[in-house]
Amino acid sequence: MVKHQEKRRQVVIVGGGPVGAGLALDLGLRGISCVLVERRKTLQNIPKGQNLTQRTGEHFWFWGIDEDIANNLAMPKGYPIGEVTAYGNLMGEFWHATAGREVVRPYYHRANLRIPQYRVEEVLRAKLAKLPNVEMLMGYMATSITQDENGVRVEVIEDGGEQTITLLGDYLVGCDGGRSMVREQVGIAREGTDFDQVMLLVVFRSKQLHEALEARFPPRSTYRVMHPMHKGYWEFFGRIDVGEGWFFHAPVPLSALQDKDFDAHALIERSTGFQFECEFDYIGHWDLRVSVAQTYRAGRTFIAGDAAHTHPPYGGFGLNNGLEDARNLGWKLAANLQGWGGDGLLDSYTNERRPVFRDTGEDFIAARIKADAVFLDRYDPARDHDEFAKAWKARESEGGARAQRYEPNYEGSNVVAGAPGARCGAHGEHMFKARAGHHLAPQKLSNGRDVFDELGADFALLAFDADEENVKAIELAAKDLGVPMKTIRDSYSGGREAYEARLVLVRPDHFVAFAGDHAPDAHALAALAAGRA
Ligand SMILES: Cc1cc2nc3c(=O)[nH]c(=O)nc-3n(C[C@H](O)[C@H](O)[C@H](O)COP(=O)(O)OP(=O)(O)OC[C@H]3O[C@@H](n4cnc5c(N)ncnc54)[C@H](O)[C@@H]3O)c2cc1C
Repeated sequence: MVKHQEKRRQVVIVGGGPVGAGLALDLGLRGISCVLVERRKTLQNIPKGQNLTQRTGEHFWFWGIDEDIANNLAMPKGYPIGEVTAYGNLMGEFWHATAGREVVRPYYHRANLRIPQYRVEEVLRAKLAKLPNVEMLMGYMATSITQDENGVRVEVIEDGGEQTITLLGDYLVGCDGGRSMVREQVGIAREGTDFDQVMLLVVFRSKQLHEALEARFPPRSTYRVMHPMHKGYWEFFGRIDVGEGWFFHAPVPLSALQDKDFDAHALIERSTGFQFECEFDYIGHWDLRVSVAQTYRAGRTFIAGDAAHTHPPYGGFGLNNGLEDARNLGWKLAANLQGWGGDGLLDSYTNERRPVFRDTGEDFIAARIKADAVFLDRYDPARDHDEFAKAWKARESEGGARAQRYEPNYEGSNVVAGAPGARCGAHGEHMFKARAGHHLAPQKLSNGRDVFDELGADFALLAFDADEENVKAIELAAKDLGVPMKTIRDSYSGGREAYEARLVLVRPDHFVAFAGDHAPDAHALAALAAGRA
């Protein structure tokens, strides 16, 4: 048997979790050859990464796994995804069932969804298995990496076996999770907030809990308890299915992890406020930390997903952000390998994605923990019931408002024609107006189809009663630079005027590169969007 091999692929991906698999799929569908190295042969049945945004739904649709995902949901189709938030425990007087991500549904081509992460991974792997240009090395561990100006070299070893492989590639992407070996070996540092707090994670089954919550609350998928003793950290229940599957996480003292007699059941019952029977499937923990890598690129090496950013699962941002990294990086690597994308396009990956996560981690997660702590300190129903009731009521609209405000955008990107001085980040506002650096909202075309159904995998120029000479100039410029682009012509009416621009240049990840009625310098625009300005 051959014990050592050498293989060359265009892109080597270390880490075949959901983000690595998503990236391999994006690249594979673009005709790029890649190899995915994953040390685990089987999937870990922990139902994390369940709360997925409308944008993630768009990735699944774009990657052609929409239906497979829909056929693998653990929840009944249409079951409400939102949250119940309660004070003290789930039987307490104060609770609300707030609006959540559903408020921004009109701005996306697909709905948000709830599905255990391992089921998404199963679907991704099944789809990858059908792509001849993607090789999956499951049960292989990457041990070391080197790179120079010409390429990357990754050494891998078979887990428990003798086979070793040297993988040579043009680019390497580390999707190898929070403890990323790739990030460490290329020397990328991280920064952020360490809360110095351990969180317990329990996966269990209980029909009694389901029945009690069904009787007390409107149908919801998650239940969050705010307790003054936790200083803003959550006690949190998430449904895995509608019937008996649950996960629960809560802050615990470090000593609880070392105590073999620690009573997790009693902890959960303190949170529910009533006793119930359950069977445990898994007990684990994680450290509460928000951290983001200082750059997502070092030479020919990139990092994505948890390798680039980690945080507690408060608000369902981790996997959603990781898959967006994959979608952002996929077309840029492909453009570079196909010869039409410049180095500026590769740099734009850090420029665009890193500030989004910095804002997400610090302003949407860490700041929320701190604000909850302040609220719990300031208001106490035992001290002043009416004052607490008023303040609690005022929080009811927060979930929907937060979803509306969470609008990752790349206005300040080096490959987008954004406003001078604009920045990239997670703060924004959902709108139908097409704005450079923002996600394109869906809109009907006069043929009855949605604009998303026509966009495709390359650049698309929306020309709605636009100056034909200007349209031709942009088409010519794209052709000159080898930038693949199609034009979608239609009238500036029938709802399409909501874009407030007759010309919209849409990138392969369906973010807007340019929006306006006239592009004064077509060549400069095409060069900018291709990272060759
Ligand atoms: C309890 C919980 C609930 C969560 N809920 C949500 C949610 O609702 N929504 C959301 O968006 N996110 C959620 N998250 C976060 C989400 O699970 C992570 O962000 C997601 O797993 C990141 O995916 P990844 O592919 O980047 O990393 P990982 O899932 O960590 O995958 C990394 C992979 O790399 C492999 N690997 C590592 N080193 C090597 C090596 N040297 N060689 C080969 N392979 C290697 C590992 O085996 C692993 O498979 C939750 C997390 C937890 C813990």
